[in-house]
Amino acid sequence: MKRIPVIDLSCCTECQGCVELAPEVFRYNDDTAMMEVIEMPEYPVAKVDEAIRDCPEDCISWEGTSE
Ligand code: SF4
Repeated sequence: MKRIPVIDLSCCTECQGCVELAPEVFRYNDDTAMMEVIEMPEYPVAKVDEAIRDCPEDCISWEGTSE
């Protein structure tokens, strides 16, 4: 099962801390004015775990997908 990081946008304050930590995974979308997760074949687990730990709003988590 592939694991992907997801951002709960209902609590995200767009502080962009996750972008500073892992710009290859997270980005701010100017068009939607929201944070988003960049589609990758595999995610760097240690970096995403660090972003999860450091997110001030606790709104990043792993989600499993059967894709
Ligand atoms: S660190 Fe958390 S609150 Fe800040 S932009 Fe990323 S997901 Fe949103």
